[in-house]
Amino acid sequence: RAASRKILRFTLPQNKCDAILPKPRACQCVSFFLQIFINNEWHDAVSKKTFPTINPATGEVICHVAEGGKSDVEKAVKAAKDAFKLGSPWRRMDASHRGLLLSRLADCIERDAAYLALFRHIFSYFFTHCLLKGYYAGWADKWEGKTIPIDGDYFCYTRHEPIGVCGQIIPWNFPLLMQAWKLGPALATGNTVVMKVAEQTPLTALYVASLIKEVGFPAGVVNIVPGMGPTAGAAIASHMDVDKVAFTGSTEVGHLIMKASSTSNLKKVTLELGGKSPNIVLSDANMEEAVEQSHFALFFNQGQCCCAGSRTYVQESIYDEFVERSVARAKKRIVGDPFNLDTEQGPQVDEEQFQKILGYISSGKREGAKLMCGGGPAADRGYFIQPTIFGDVKDDMTIAREEIFGPVMQILKFKSLEEVIERANDSKYGLAAAVFTKNIDKAHYISHGLRAGTVWINCYDVFGVQAPFGGYKASGIGRELGEYGLDNYTEVKTVTIKVPQKNS
Ligand code: NAP
Ligand code: MG
Repeated sequence: RAASRKILRFTLPQNKCDAILPKPRACQCVSFFLQIFINNEWHDAVSKKTFPTINPATGEVICHVAEGGKSDVEKAVKAAKDAFKLGSPWRRMDASHRGLLLSRLADCIERDAAYLALFRHIFSYFFTHCLLKGYYAGWADKWEGKTIPIDGDYFCYTRHEPIGVCGQIIPWNFPLLMQAWKLGPALATGNTVVMKVAEQTPLTALYVASLIKEVGFPAGVVNIVPGMGPTAGAAIASHMDVDKVAFTGSTEVGHLIMKASSTSNLKKVTLELGGKSPNIVLSDANMEEAVEQSHFALFFNQGQCCCAGSRTYVQESIYDEFVERSVARAKKRIVGDPFNLDTEQGPQVDEEQFQKILGYISSGKREGAKLMCGGGPAADRGYFIQPTIFGDVKDDMTIAREEIFGPVMQILKFKSLEEVIERANDSKYGLAAAVFTKNIDKAHYISHGLRAGTVWINCYDVFGVQAPFGGYKASGIGRELGEYGLDNYTEVKTVTIKVPQKNS
């Protein structure tokens, strides 16, 4: 539907509505805001610039969104800093009330799920809802300090205090989910936020901004600036009044964020970066499950997952059968219209990623990997790529070392457990890993040997809001989710009081 400059109105088709939710809301029309969200108000960019949001299934422009730059980040940081001032409504608010606001936000997300699911996978909203409501809303008044028995006549205790203004820079691969991973712990612990959302996916984040206002978060607590990385993103990372920056995206930009922190105010940095996660299938694994889970591990979300199982190591004796079955599975994968509920694979996010993935496929062929299926675009228009599998992949090939972020599976052969652990660890990344085996001793042996933040045994991509997630090595710094996720949003203050030894 044609867009005005500030609001995009979208009418939900009734059949989609029925399919997504048992009881859709009476109103089938939804409005998406297209401006910058600062102090609970909508603003044009100071520069008046906008940028297009493209439908990746067709390549057509959906609407134009305000393009925040350095001056807009300046305004947003000021709003967040003011909202964090001692005595402000947010600082004076009871922790339990912060929890209540998060819980209400989750309820609104659930209420509007059909609209949000228009733009994002339904899974995102379920997980987002649990995360905000059941989990971080509950933590708001339970993140306790300690009393500490130090030497001498002193009473010593710790307070877990919010860090202050948190810059949050998120990617496009799970926009709604990434927003919730960042907002949940930051708000539960009482911080204020300036968030830059990815240029490819601003709409759901701005929709959530409207809900933040609706449920009653004080002005300035959450500010959302759509815009570009090198301008808006960089302005957040180097801002002197931003106390912490949390980033999810490429390792390359992760380096830039660290650098910006080190040359500005040494703001605290947490990073959730890329991966090249090994998925190890032993000869005793349940073949059918291992094939299906390995397929899911790589192809889920069009392969656009930081933790995608993108190096599938298969033990020699079952290698041929595993490859054959994986190819048969990939050929059955349904690629097409993302609005069709039978579709397993939609388009890649944009032209740039599409071209990048095709480039990796060419490099695989060039460097001698065996193309078993797929290998090219899957449609005449839009950014669809055929489910692709390379066999006989060697560890030093580009496709076995770099993050492809697309539907391209690499299968490698191994002999012994010791060998596969060493090869799996021979990567700059260490985000996730998996092992498929019926032998629990082997499962433990391998999982203890792997240098990765998450290891799945006989499953893949199983996330719990209660369980931490993050990377070893160049896959990141810090952990998100669970109780561990709160550490990254709090300063620990030690308070020591002299206790008089007699009543004077
Ligand atoms: P990216 O450039 O790392 O983007 C992530 C976020 O950082 C976006 O919001 C981006 O803004 C912003 N950004 C970019 N340059 C910045 C800078 N100089 N300072 C501050 N922020 C900056 O990732 P991408 O370009 O979307 O994708 C490139 C590759 O990154 C992918 O192929 C994939 O390998 C990897 N990736 C990993 C994850 C993950 O979950 N670990 C997620 C997405 C991508 P823009 O929107 O303007 O780019
Ligand atoms: Mg980018």
